[in-house]
Amino acid sequence: EAEAAPVGHITPVMQQFVEIKAANPDSLLFFRMGDFYEMFFGDAEVASRALGITLTKRGKHLGEDIPMCGVPVHAADDYLQRLIALGHRVAVCEQLEDPAEARKRGSKAVVRRDVIRLVTPGTITEDNLLDARRSNYLASVARTKAGAEGAGDRFAVAFADMSTGAFRVLEVEGGGLAAAIARIEPRELLIPDSIIGDDDLKPLWRQSGAASVPTPRAFFDGATAGDRLAAYFGVASLDAFGRFTRLELQAASAVIAYLDKTQIGQRPPLDPPAREGETGIMSIDAATRANLELARTLSGERRGSLLSVIDRTVTGAGARLLAERLAAPLTDPEAIRHRLDAVDLFLREPALRADISRRLSAAPDMARALTRLVMGRGGPRDMRAIGEGLEAAAGVLRRLAEIELPGEEIAAALASLASAPHGLAGDLAAALDDDLPLLKRDGGFVRTGYRADLDETRSLRDESRRVIASLQATYVDLSGIKSLKIKHNNVLGYFVDIGPNHAAAMMAAPLNETFIHRQTLANAVRFSTVELGQLEGRIASAGERSLAIEMQVFGELSAAIEREAAAIKRAAEALAVIDVASALATLADERGYCRPKVDDSFAFHIEAGRHPVVEDVLRTEGQSFVANDSDIGPSAETGAPDGGRIWLITGPNMAGKSTFLRQNALIAVLAQMGSFVPAKSAHIGTVDRLFSRVGAADDLARGRSTFMVEMIETAAILNQAGPRALVILDEIGRGTATFDGLSIAWATIEHLHAVNRSRALFATHYHELTALSERLERIVNATVKVREWKGDVVFLHEIVPGAADRSYGIQVARLAGLPPAVVDRAKSVLAELEKSGGSAPASLIDDLPLFTAARRAPRREEAPEDMPKVLEMLDGLSPDDLSPREALEMLYSLKAER
Ligand code: ADP
Repeated sequence: EAEAAPVGHITPVMQQFVEIKAANPDSLLFFRMGDFYEMFFGDAEVASRALGITLTKRGKHLGEDIPMCGVPVHAADDYLQRLIALGHRVAVCEQLEDPAEARKRGSKAVVRRDVIRLVTPGTITEDNLLDARRSNYLASVARTKAGAEGAGDRFAVAFADMSTGAFRVLEVEGGGLAAAIARIEPRELLIPDSIIGDDDLKPLWRQSGAASVPTPRAFFDGATAGDRLAAYFGVASLDAFGRFTRLELQAASAVIAYLDKTQIGQRPPLDPPAREGETGIMSIDAATRANLELARTLSGERRGSLLSVIDRTVTGAGARLLAERLAAPLTDPEAIRHRLDAVDLFLREPALRADISRRLSAAPDMARALTRLVMGRGGPRDMRAIGEGLEAAAGVLRRLAEIELPGEEIAAALASLASAPHGLAGDLAAALDDDLPLLKRDGGFVRTGYRADLDETRSLRDESRRVIASLQATYVDLSGIKSLKIKHNNVLGYFVDIGPNHAAAMMAAPLNETFIHRQTLANAVRFSTVELGQLEGRIASAGERSLAIEMQVFGELSAAIEREAAAIKRAAEALAVIDVASALATLADERGYCRPKVDDSFAFHIEAGRHPVVEDVLRTEGQSFVANDSDIGPSAETGAPDGGRIWLITGPNMAGKSTFLRQNALIAVLAQMGSFVPAKSAHIGTVDRLFSRVGAADDLARGRSTFMVEMIETAAILNQAGPRALVILDEIGRGTATFDGLSIAWATIEHLHAVNRSRALFATHYHELTALSERLERIVNATVKVREWKGDVVFLHEIVPGAADRSYGIQVARLAGLPPAVVDRAKSVLAELEKSGGSAPASLIDDLPLFTAARRAPRREEAPEDMPKVLEMLDGLSPDDLSPREALEMLYSLKAER
């Protein structure tokens, strides 16, 4: 961005620009000049590229052209949105006085200008800059270094959605930071200068997807944090809001300091900070969250995620609440039950649900409109949003009040709706016109009949306009010029307009007593009159007076809304809760979901479970999903809660192992967020931590191989999972040589069984592992049924007890279109290998019909010196592990080695 140019021989405006730019070096400066925001120097280059607008020049600076580009003020939001989306920050610099005032100070005086607001991704309030269905969090991270006593690093994360006022804070130990950030998904992240460059943390900042902001230490100052927060919320002490750790206060205070810095005098109406405990929420680490594609797919899209498939909400606030609940499933069975009761209620009453959802669809986003109004950025339409929102609230309340046993959650929501300021809705409807301008300064939003004085000034104005219209006839008579017209423009105001051929008559006596010549154009001559001037003055002052009255009305209504801000916000939240419950009921109804039984047991018993997303995809293709049971709680025979069981699932590629694993994790997430689940029945003892290790992609950016990532994630599971955890492991060990992999998988299962005692599903290619079930009592073998038909495999996607007899890798390869010669050869190699118990027998090496030994370049250390490359490649290859595409690529590279 623009280097502040040295101040030298430059124009006063440029001098002003350079000074303001120097004070805002890390933002693009939108410099207001009349109807445009102009950008100069480097800012202009950056913005013209980002926005695809023309880069021009304006004057010279120290002998060089000044690059410039500009956007019209009326379209600025559009451009802002694009710049923000690209991660830029924009300082909006306005003219603080009328150019006429500046001229009074001298002919060379420059209009006073200053930055009135920094627009950053985490501090926006405008609807067209925000996504209605997503929260927009600004978060900050504070750290205490590990103590000498061996305590690890601790972090606090504070996060605020300025557009709705939500403000929360939590503290985690070092390992929990990534999970917390992955859950919150901040748009902007304040990171203390002291840790932003930390090598261990850098990847985390990047993966967060947030715009990271290096933040000075002073923002996090522990000594003043408590006072800064207390001052912001206007309380003597924060105790009223609960107890916070020093670290939490530091993080929260950084958020407040940043809002002060960016909002410049405007104070967003945040809720007091609410502390989130480490318990109460199912912990889901970042990798698991990504793997399970809860809110977005692995490729980063929202379509195809669990959220996109379950979302039936009809309001923005409902969608935001649903996303937050999905991101943070609960662990308290009681709290979960309250949510499920609410879904149940709407499921039992489809007519009620349809009615509620119709009313909610008409409810605008009250929370966000409220913030804009309180911050002085709102317009008449935001006021109407509050009015209509309150009306919807009253309608929903009336409809739901009929219900006898609404259950805790709906009852609480109804109480909030009941205490909403319902009278305000009537006031707003009475005051606001049907057609509203976007901006209050345009006036014309107060309804006729609302204020007598306004009606009076308006009729004065209208009357004057009528008089002017009738004057035209008078002047025609007076002058005898039939073509005489009265017109209006901004320079002359009202004027008399005639053709040039009549000009002489007009300018001679007696007409020149009435008509004062103003302007001669090629085909028109223009005159003013004393009467027109007076009427014009009357119209203008009536207009000014009208606008002043309208502003007063706006101010009064704003103040009334602000007084009720807390109650309005509660009502908005209640509507969101109702939207979510009714949306989940719609989902359950449409998709045949059942109510899960969630309790304190260690059970995990799903009957006829389905994968919500795969099921959806198959449905659109006209296919049906094969439902499957799982039961990994303590076994019925042993009775006692002796730890969960581990299902060891073998079966060929493409049979449906991963789908089965994931569907069980997703069912747990859905159940604990308070949703019904895709199953015939489900009994789940609350899961406190969810772990999934499913085929990770290479994390090349961090210089880690697939295998390394896999081992890091596996280590996290073995170190952290307890008996309440649910563990999903897919293909552990496939990233390394067969025997290494098998040994690691083997030891992992033993550890899970003996130490972690978690409920687990383990999918593997290593058939050898199935032997473990004979030795370890809580291991159950399961496999996916396939049928062979005329030499092909047919996948039945049905999970049954027992071990897979074979892997069918070659059949899958054939389905994928591997050339018949390769398939045949693979079959005979397999037969030989099976005969010899795994190692390549000499007979196979001597007999190489397909490949002849060529260059020798042993890659892996364990490869014998004299082993040809192709064989070495074959040796390191396990057909079952290959996707059809990988198989094909392998074939190409084998061929290339030849
Ligand atoms: P694996 O992990 O065994 O290689 P996947 O779980 O990836 O297999 O499943 C492969 C494909 O099979 C899926 O993309 C899906 O289309 C289909 N599939 C999986 N499970 C089922 C099921 N229960 N019912 C119907 N189709 C399924």
